[in-house]
Amino acid sequence: MAITVLSHPLAADLLTVLRDRNTNPPQFRQIAERLGYLLVAEALADLPLDEVDIETPLEATKGSQLHRPVVAVAVLRAGLGLLHSVLTLVPDAAIGFAGVQRDEETAEPMEYYTKFPNLDGARVLILEPMLATGGSLSWAVDKVKENGAKDIVAVCVVAAPEGLAKMGADHPDVRVVAASLDRELNPNFYIAPGLGDMGDRLFGTL
Ligand code: URA
Repeated sequence: MAITVLSHPLAADLLTVLRDRNTNPPQFRQIAERLGYLLVAEALADLPLDEVDIETPLEATKGSQLHRPVVAVAVLRAGLGLLHSVLTLVPDAAIGFAGVQRDEETAEPMEYYTKFPNLDGARVLILEPMLATGGSLSWAVDKVKENGAKDIVAVCVVAAPEGLAKMGADHPDVRVVAASLDRELNPNFYIAPGLGDMGDRLFGTL
């Protein structure tokens, strides 16, 4: 399993605003979307290009088009915070949803809803902003693989070493892109230093 941690200064700047407890939900959503552009760009950086014939106002020439299809699967609910970033950069991406809730005592994933578009031949971006234990992400990858996905990249804001270890064991073929690899999980399975509960920070719930 390969991990790419963004090294761009913009990513560090944006992540700092997300980590700050004083950032309110409207600001948090906007900054998460901006950071999402950098994460999604990296997650598609190795996508092949298809050659196309076009005409500039001056002459016929060759151009390049992203090899499609691209699919984004938002792991509910925090993954919704990165969805607009994908749709802005790749407006024709198809979207799926993976509804999983973590059992607060065991931290094991519990499914409540899944809906996927056709995944055959697609680059599948799994939007899972907080890679904590890795249980939800590993579960979501199992699900998309059962539905035909073969080319999968996980898009995370913050990853914990424990979650990366689980992904390495369960899904060594899946690349993880993150803005930070943080220190550890705390006893309540939150990433430290982290940014708190991503869903609560996005949607103002407590
Ligand atoms: N989910 C979150 O939203 N935050 C964490 O720190 C861990 C899991």
